[in-house]
Amino acid sequence: PIALFGEQRKNSMGVNLSNDNELNALAASVNAARKPWLAEPLVPGVKNAGEFRDVTDPADRRRVIGQTRGADVPTLDKALANAVAAQPGWDALPAASRAKILEHTADLLEARRAEFIALCVREAGKTMSAAIAEVREAADFCRYYGAMARKLFAQPEVLPGPTGESNELFLHGRGVFVCISPWNFPLAIFMGQVAAALAAGNSVISKPADQTTLVGYAAVKLLHEAGVPADVLQFVPCKGSVLGNSLLTRPDVAGVCFTGSTETAWTINRTLAARDSSIAALIAETGGQNALIADSSALPEQLVKDVCASAFDSAGQRCSAARVLFVQEDIADKVITMLTGAMAELTMGDPGLLSTDVGPVIDEASHKELSEHAERMDREAKLIGQVAAGESTVHGTFFAPRAYEIPRLDILHKEIFGPVLHVLRWKADQLDKVIDAINATGYGLTLGIHSRIDDTIDHIVKRARVGNCYVNRNQIGAVVGVQPFGGENLSGTGPKAGGPHYLLRFATERTVTINT
Ligand code: GLU
Repeated sequence: PIALFGEQRKNSMGVNLSNDNELNALAASVNAARKPWLAEPLVPGVKNAGEFRDVTDPADRRRVIGQTRGADVPTLDKALANAVAAQPGWDALPAASRAKILEHTADLLEARRAEFIALCVREAGKTMSAAIAEVREAADFCRYYGAMARKLFAQPEVLPGPTGESNELFLHGRGVFVCISPWNFPLAIFMGQVAAALAAGNSVISKPADQTTLVGYAAVKLLHEAGVPADVLQFVPCKGSVLGNSLLTRPDVAGVCFTGSTETAWTINRTLAARDSSIAALIAETGGQNALIADSSALPEQLVKDVCASAFDSAGQRCSAARVLFVQEDIADKVITMLTGAMAELTMGDPGLLSTDVGPVIDEASHKELSEHAERMDREAKLIGQVAAGESTVHGTFFAPRAYEIPRLDILHKEIFGPVLHVLRWKADQLDKVIDAINATGYGLTLGIHSRIDDTIDHIVKRARVGNCYVNRNQIGAVVGVQPFGGENLSGTGPKAGGPHYLLRFATERTVTINT
């Protein structure tokens, strides 16, 4: 149990990956999970109409796995009216009641693990181990924010004052929160945003990523089943531009929680700022151009293992993923040779198979962008590693992971969201230049450090402007309540997801002073 400001809480046990019996049984139930799936708006008072469109499996685009239809502008209007009306009642509930519902959601998630893993594998192309971790993280978010609500929202903070006066500080929900979630963690981040907003006493309108609507729908159904009223949490699958041009322009939206690209965060920020009758809170977690610095004291075997996990797990589609490896000249040849060999051992294929290391990328647009980047790197850099693309990948949107040795950092113009690693050599007297170059990208999300020299580690940690620093391990997979996650500058506004301050940004503070 973790002592969380006096609360006792445990992270989800997940699945024991080293127990073959447990894993094979899970894989069998994942493959048998119910299909086809469905997703449509969940807005009380609206009768959904409109055409369904097919959702296909990124690992094999011939396979239809479900159908979805979206919300139009009148549906968004109705959702907002419902949310405005429902919020005061939800906020007035004791925080412990909201926490109980979230904890029940976590229990249900674990009980229906196979169904949710199957959805993440089939709709988002997650590998089995990534999908297992995703369900675990989603359950952790529910329990963590539940525990935080019990702690922070249950009682007012009693403040000092002169004799004859009482002063109390209360936390309340801000009002209606719009949660806009990404496709790369369609369950964990979706749940995390929604659970935090609900825990703090807001009503929520949730928009899933276009590519992962089925997962979002199943998550919202589960929260409803656990006890969140239908008008307190609504679901509006639609294009980001539709949401931006209608819902986000409305003064009744008190806050937006967004995870996705830095460019989209700017657009949302501008839209909210253009409203002249209210000021909304924006919580944005955005991209990174994450680096890993290895000096000559790094252990090459461990480094290469951690580089492969950091750069290629989830097909590199994590905002925490390593994009640039800065390796000190003295060990560079050895590390590159080992990296080439390690990459040749990775298996790309159907993410539903336990033997698969790398699944597909999310869609054609992403595949195209990565292919164009690789073409440019083929001209401007040197290919030093590649994963083989087998027969089984021809019908999916697979992009074989690649590693390039690049001449200079500035040939990378922006975040490359996929399994492409860039390697740069540095000399002993260039460490500060390396750190400055990383800071100068303007992003500040994750940084990996591989070194066995305490002073070097300390020096880098003090100078680097990043949200999450990982030393002598991989730099992905932040654990709720253990590694609060999120960056600074172009990488986001904070506060950190899965951290002790997150709920506060979803809340408004009210001080009551009584002359007794
Ligand atoms: N929390 C995830 C991790 O630590 C990354 C989240 C994201 O990609 O947005 O790997």
